[in-house]
Amino acid sequence: MNERKRIFLCLARMSEAGLEEQYVREAFETHWVAPLGPNVDAFEALLDHYVGCGKKTVALSSGTAAVHLALIACGVCPGDEVIVQSFTFCASSNPVSYLGATPVFVDSEPHSWNMDPALLEAAIEDRIRQTGRKPKAIVPVALYGMPYNLPEIMKIAVKYGIPVIEDAAEGFGSRFNGQVLGTFGDYGILSFNGNKMITTSGGGALICPDDKTHHDIMFYATQAREAYPYYHHEQIGYNYRMSNICAGIGRGQMTVLEDHIAHHKHINKLYKSLLGGVDGITVHENPSEEYDSNFWLTNILLDSDLHVAGEGEAYQATVVACVGGAGNVLHTPDDLHTDCEPNPNVEAMRIFLDKNEIEARPLWKPMHKQPVFANCPAYTNGVSESLFKRGLCLPSGPYVSEDDVRYIVSCIKNALTV
Ligand SMILES: *Cc1c(COP(=O)(O)O)cnc(C)c1O
Repeated sequence: MNERKRIFLCLARMSEAGLEEQYVREAFETHWVAPLGPNVDAFEALLDHYVGCGKKTVALSSGTAAVHLALIACGVCPGDEVIVQSFTFCASSNPVSYLGATPVFVDSEPHSWNMDPALLEAAIEDRIRQTGRKPKAIVPVALYGMPYNLPEIMKIAVKYGIPVIEDAAEGFGSRFNGQVLGTFGDYGILSFNGNKMITTSGGGALICPDDKTHHDIMFYATQAREAYPYYHHEQIGYNYRMSNICAGIGRGQMTVLEDHIAHHKHINKLYKSLLGGVDGITVHENPSEEYDSNFWLTNILLDSDLHVAGEGEAYQATVVACVGGAGNVLHTPDDLHTDCEPNPNVEAMRIFLDKNEIEARPLWKPMHKQPVFANCPAYTNGVSESLFKRGLCLPSGPYVSEDDVRYIVSCIKNALTV
């Protein structure tokens, strides 16, 4: 029988020196078990230094909280519209709904897989025509770490005077023309969830444009407390600061960030060379030299006419857990199908790899195809939907060895039936 250890997409890995534990222990020993403290300050200083450009970061309880606060800082109010890349994880658009505003989804361009600038401009023009008002912000997403088309998106943002919130939650350490993502726009989102490039168990950060906004973000992240000896509130705030415990993990993780990025890139290269000669399978890569993805996840596309063992039986049984796990919270679907799902050969490949102890995952289902956002305006070109139907994310994290990649590729080849 198979004695292989299961290979996961991206498991968190701590520094060999055990710094994460050391900083957490210090937090206990100094009684800084609070949503502020020396680890938070130190972690933020490390983040500031890493992202550069003189930008200041605020460490928060999640990347989703960072999106929420950035939207508030952009003045998003009930009834407003915010342009969001459709090809993303729901954390990019959910906070728009938290604020009673409406996400307007924009589809992707084929090479970066991220927000299509031409469609972005068309969407802005059309929203102005239809509502008489400009969208309040633009949220491009570095999906799987790949940078978006920065020159074009920034040009359009400047032309219309709309702030940009870069969702670099998956793209920590990715660069465009050598500059770290999250520092081009007005705000930048980072996530330190358990499966991201580095982790604080759960956590995130918001990269702010200047001292004034940095200060405002801190204010909203700590329940909007006014400067009195007693609690006095003139605004609604949030309890979104990172704890000193989590920041301790983050401090340690900053020492392995460059290692992790190098590893993810190395794994991507290996996949590319080993899958290079396989007909019907394409590995997603940097579209040109300016793009420098951290390759958080390596993704492949399967041609729709590629034959995979078991494709006739795909979608015959309900999956017993939802993607990414969700504690024990699981809604059981009434139907095995939705109106937009990966092709049967992709699902068959996922199942085939799963049986060989390899975790693979479909690409993120575009937001404009999600029932929960069915009533939101969407400007589409079919790109993200087509990618979703053909794509699969492969194990790419710090525990994935060269040997694992060779094994995964041999399993992929074994699944192909000629
Ligand atoms: C992970 C993620 C976030 C934020 O995530 P948290 O889990 O709240 O830290 C935001 N956007 C994208 C695209 C993500 O993948």
